[in-house]
Amino acid sequence: MLKKLFKSFRLPLKRKAHPRSTPEVLSNRQHALQRAKFSRNAVNVVERLQHAGYQAYLVGGCVRDLLLGLQPKDFDVATSATPEQVRAEFRNARVIGRRFKLAHVHFGREIIEVATFRANHPQGDDEEDSHLSSRNESGRILRDNVYGSLEDDAQRRDFTINALYFDVTGERILDYAHGVHDIRNRLIRLIGDPEQRYLEDPVRMLRAVRFAAKLDFDIEKHSAAPIRQLASKLRDIPSARLFDEVLKLFLAGYAEHTFDLLVEYDLFAPLFPASAAALKRNPDYTGTLIRQALANTDERIAQGKPVTPAFLFAALLWPALPARVLHLQERGMPPIPAMQEAAHDLITEQCQRIAIPKRFTLPIREIWDMQERLPRRSGKRADLLLENPRFRAGYDFLLLREDAGEETGGLGDWWTDYQDATDSERRSMIRDLANRQEEAGDGPAKKRRRGGRNKRRGPSTDAPAGD
Ligand code: ATP
Ligand code: MG
Repeated sequence: MLKKLFKSFRLPLKRKAHPRSTPEVLSNRQHALQRAKFSRNAVNVVERLQHAGYQAYLVGGCVRDLLLGLQPKDFDVATSATPEQVRAEFRNARVIGRRFKLAHVHFGREIIEVATFRANHPQGDDEEDSHLSSRNESGRILRDNVYGSLEDDAQRRDFTINALYFDVTGERILDYAHGVHDIRNRLIRLIGDPEQRYLEDPVRMLRAVRFAAKLDFDIEKHSAAPIRQLASKLRDIPSARLFDEVLKLFLAGYAEHTFDLLVEYDLFAPLFPASAAALKRNPDYTGTLIRQALANTDERIAQGKPVTPAFLFAALLWPALPARVLHLQERGMPPIPAMQEAAHDLITEQCQRIAIPKRFTLPIREIWDMQERLPRRSGKRADLLLENPRFRAGYDFLLLREDAGEETGGLGDWWTDYQDATDSERRSMIRDLANRQEEAGDGPAKKRRRGGRNKRRGPSTDAPAGD
């Protein structure tokens, strides 16, 4: 397919990541991109800006993805117009961002992101520019609003494959950093010195992994080399930005592969410290549970079904719970309060790293609480649980735990049958349950405990419930 897309285009001989001041220009005979493949609205934005006398190109992910035959997630425009000038051109435009100011042009549900050409500004910029651009002592860019030329703009982009500009008028591709070469060779390569570029913005390490997973590319070896050593720099990134990035990592349809790469490059620990510790302590259970949750998410996305970040975070954090519950119990706390406190503490700690909004942390707690309640089915409890709006998520979560090898005494199967059963079958299921408990001479909690459940495998269904 790539051959077809690039037609007779020949590889440049030089393959260094250093950007060029004059681009390689691919004419419309050398590639198969046509303006008709881009969003109509994005092309209109480019043309309106050109009419108003500005330079404007389609850039980034949309050019990259279309060259690879993928459907772009969104369409980004790069222009010589400042955000305010863009706003002046379009009634439906809004200026957003502080660290990185840009204009959003709204067309119904579609948003075209219009960014002004920016320059890379060396460390030690003039004081007077500090309101436009600034860095901290490790070189991290705190504000990135120094505007520049198209050539400057290509240099400050993260990866070579993201620095391709599509000119809608001539249907030409401008390639300043050998991005086309890297697309052909399926490589993620930073523009410029990798270490410096990661220090400028550690999130680029996450982006490298995200694109590698999404495109099934390799991270070029010089771009891969500094990641492990710099991974801890992610701790300096504001938690709100990390929340956005984590959603992009896990909700793009390639979460399972992304997770494997995050672990491989030591990037998982700075994002989810407690879960990474659980992964170390108990790799089989933790790895299976998280990967299964992510695989389910990928499958739902592939089928166009909705996914909830709460379920994902509930799964990512769950393996970190048992050690904490146990610790509190060893200090004399009864099971239910120990579970509650451990859950609260874990989420609070995690939110310092990744700012998970309340609208997700509440359902995380509810999914976890449901795990304590699902084993308790006597009398009217089972029917009440079925009516609980969180039942489905709680039940799916139970199946996930079982898939990961947690022993629940067949609880998942029981609930599967119960949902399918008629009223009278349900009544008899509850009676059977009571009889079995009587035969066992005690409640469900002790019965399962005798079954030899391994406490280290995961938060228990019975211990916190203590029913
Ligand atoms: P997708 O939209 O599919 O996730 P994308 O490449 O379009 O991928 P965006 O986050 O939409 O990614 O960013 C658009 C472009 O802006 C990128 O292609 C890249 O050129 C540039 N860019 C984004 N984030 C950074 C960054 N942290 N450092 C340097 N350049 C960046
Ligand atoms: Mg994009």
